[in-house]
Amino acid sequence: MNKDLISRLNEGPVLCAEGYLFAMERRGYLQAGAFVPEVVLEHPEVVSQLHREFIRGGSDVVQAFTYYGHREKLRIIGKEHLLEPLQKNALKIAKDAANEFPNLDLMVCGDVANTNIYDPDDKQSHVECQKMYEEQVQWAKEAGVNFIVAETISWLEEMKIALKTIKDAGLIAVCNFSIKSKDKTRDGYTPGDACKILEDNGADVVGLNCFRGPKMTMKLLPEIREKVSCHVAALPVPYRTTEKHPGYLNQIDPGCDCIPGGLVYPTALDNLYCNRYEMAEFAKECVSKKINFIGICCGAEAHHVREMAVALGRKPISYKYYPDMSKHYAHGTDKTLKKLNTNVAKEL
Ligand SMILES: [Zn+2]
Repeated sequence: MNKDLISRLNEGPVLCAEGYLFAMERRGYLQAGAFVPEVVLEHPEVVSQLHREFIRGGSDVVQAFTYYGHREKLRIIGKEHLLEPLQKNALKIAKDAANEFPNLDLMVCGDVANTNIYDPDDKQSHVECQKMYEEQVQWAKEAGVNFIVAETISWLEEMKIALKTIKDAGLIAVCNFSIKSKDKTRDGYTPGDACKILEDNGADVVGLNCFRGPKMTMKLLPEIREKVSCHVAALPVPYRTTEKHPGYLNQIDPGCDCIPGGLVYPTALDNLYCNRYEMAEFAKECVSKKINFIGICCGAEAHHVREMAVALGRKPISYKYYPDMSKHYAHGTDKTLKKLNTNVAKEL
């Protein structure tokens, strides 16, 4: 590890692939609902493989899959005793995956998230939040992470507790809000104002992740960029969320009448999916707006990551298999292809 996150961001964009939770659910290794990453204990090889795929796609960051492996999440499935082994295993899996690619200058990060117990009117809940963050940050620090992301938090005050915990541990802090439908934190701050307060409280990088698709995320970024002087992060979900429903929690699919409960979140988002090129456009727009911590959250797959990397002017490992339609039997242009097929390509 040659340079820290901030030095890297000063030089240009850093790409960060997230979205492990949804990826594991789709593959059949994690249950939607409680969304607890027991997979890091039960099938670590599957997590390792997803790390590899994201690294091969061009992610500069290997994020330990500790997301939603926190005390409250383990409580709700009755497995608090698994907290420490789960957290430590996730950190080890991420580090081991990064070490498989010694020629890449990868960064490994820890992760803390919304605790789901924070209540602005209940001071005791703030103490409990802090304890949850402290134990996770400590394990991440012991594992030697390069920085910690605090993410998908919607309350400024909860984020401040996470930030203070990370900074008290002497680590670089990336603070990413998930902003719900009214374009404000749940305690009523605009994203720009909330991020400015975080910067004033010592955050190294501030921004947004999850919940919104690229367009609805981009909508909120200029205000943040304008109000802070530190680096800004943007990691949307790859779904086409709308002005009417900026977040993916309340989307419907008018073209489908067989979705249990009617809402497409979280298991029927397929028809809202962004393709790789839409995510690449998002990455380019981030660069043009001086947003250097660029990524993708729930829904991410390696093809999105690779196209975003290519949009940033890179040739990641999996670029070896970048599409080359010139050799396609019907749509191709290679002179040796049979005209029998190429001549009727439009009719196929
Ligand atoms: Zn997400």
